[in-house]
Amino acid sequence: MLSAKANCLCGAVKITANEINPKFTVCHCDACRGWGGAPFFAVQCGTQVEIEGSDNIKMYDSSSWASRGFCTECGTHLFFRFKQSGDYNMPVGLFKNLTELEMEMQYFSDQRPDYYCFSNKTKELSKAEIMTYFAKKV
Ligand SMILES: [Zn+2]
Ligand SMILES: [Zn+2]
Repeated sequence: MLSAKANCLCGAVKITANEINPKFTVCHCDACRGWGGAPFFAVQCGTQVEIEGSDNIKMYDSSSWASRGFCTECGTHLFFRFKQSGDYNMPVGLFKNLTELEMEMQYFSDQRPDYYCFSNKTKELSKAEIMTYFAKKV
């Protein structure tokens, strides 16, 4: 577990995450690609997250299981948060000084469009496999 600081483009929101898993996940699902215009490079940050300037965060209730937060001043995407566990997933690019990063897993590999692919060798989970995977964890 690593600790690192992140901030939005304008600096109105500053975040310190204390339980970062440097093995990050890429999500190709329709919602993530619609949200950011590209796949979501998501770093699992656990629940030990300190936020400065939370007045500048707008939450979007994107599904029954998670919300997405962004800065109301500059629009930077800040996190995807699971409602039940409170776990944060944050875009890898927000962290400027994070080391040991490794692309470990690709989610919704069956929703990845044909116009891009990564050469990184990672594990991949299709939508059906993800549903099974999370059903076991709950
Ligand atoms: Zn901002
Ligand atoms: Zn997604």
